[in-house]
Amino acid sequence: MRIIVDFDLCQSHGLCTEAAPELFQIRDDGFLYVLNETPGKELAGKAQKAAIECPTGAITLKDD
Ligand code: SF4
Repeated sequence: MRIIVDFDLCQSHGLCTEAAPELFQIRDDGFLYVLNETPGKELAGKAQKAAIECPTGAITLKDD
């Protein structure tokens, strides 16, 4: 799985960081960082939850 974030759409709401703190982090600069762009299966559910909950649809998940 590959996580792709459209940073033009991201508004740093942080819902993804709550759904998957292992994968997403908002730092002191106010920007979102993807901590792991190619997570294993054990994090797939959390990645999907983050993508669904993102209010701007900025997160896309692709199968490798
Ligand atoms: S939930 Fe969406 S808009 Fe909010 S920080 Fe995450 S990617 Fe950005």
